[in-house]
Amino acid sequence: LGKRRLFVPSDDAELAALAASFNHLLDRLESAHTTQQRFTADASHELRTPLTVLRGEIEVALRKPRTAEEYREVLVSNKEEIERLSRLTENMLALAHVDVGDAVTQRELVNVSELCAGVTSRLQSLAAERQITLQHADATTEPLSVSGDPVALDRVIFNLVENALRYSPVGEHVTVVVAKTPPWIEIQVSDTGGGIAPEHLGHLFERFYRVDKARSRSHGGSGLGLSIVKALVEAHGGMVEVESTVGRGSTFTVKLPAV
Ligand code: ADP
Repeated sequence: LGKRRLFVPSDDAELAALAASFNHLLDRLESAHTTQQRFTADASHELRTPLTVLRGEIEVALRKPRTAEEYREVLVSNKEEIERLSRLTENMLALAHVDVGDAVTQRELVNVSELCAGVTSRLQSLAAERQITLQHADATTEPLSVSGDPVALDRVIFNLVENALRYSPVGEHVTVVVAKTPPWIEIQVSDTGGGIAPEHLGHLFERFYRVDKARSRSHGGSGLGLSIVKALVEAHGGMVEVESTVGRGSTFTVKLPAV
């Protein structure tokens, strides 16, 4: 595809413009095609890893007779790998919905403050487990509403808060602040955790990108969470940004058009 571009050897400005836009379109097609190919390659790799682990565990278990307790241990571990596979396929499905444009099906008035309160309350037990304080506050008493899909927006906030809790060391703090900065409603999820080095910041929202593969895998992460956040926020006409300092923590800011 790369070499076969349209070249117009004449002074006709209209033809030249037509050729330029045709070439631009081809570039975009080519880049979309490459992205899709990379996604398929990465997805296959991600699916293969838990399958290899599962097969290995079962093969070892079958090699000689085991006690009931030993079989039980294998089954517990098998179940964990299967849960990992389920989460991965669910996330891939969520992205596929965004790609075909049907992830944000309903549009209703969503109170962002209530949504954040719901997410923080659902994640309090994870916070307690990790001995992290998790708080939610509104920067104003004004209504903080957007037009959107409550399920999709819940997923956005959930993914960000869950990451902040999972990637912060024990004893740190996570805060969710909702504010109005016209024309946006801003949701800031901040943590006082380890932070992210500058060379990773530009890649965080890419599909399957993980700073520390082992750490992400140990909590069942697929590297898709932030790409889902970005895609869903953009489907609402918003944007997501990250600021981070190693050793001090990270702040993810979601901006959604205010109603
Ligand atoms: P994962 O499933 O690995 O959590 P995400 O797309 O949600 O995938 O996040 C991508 C990577 O960004 C994570 O693997 C982690 O390394 C890094 N990350 C995300 N949020 C934070 C955070 N709050 N603090 C530090 N690192 C983070």
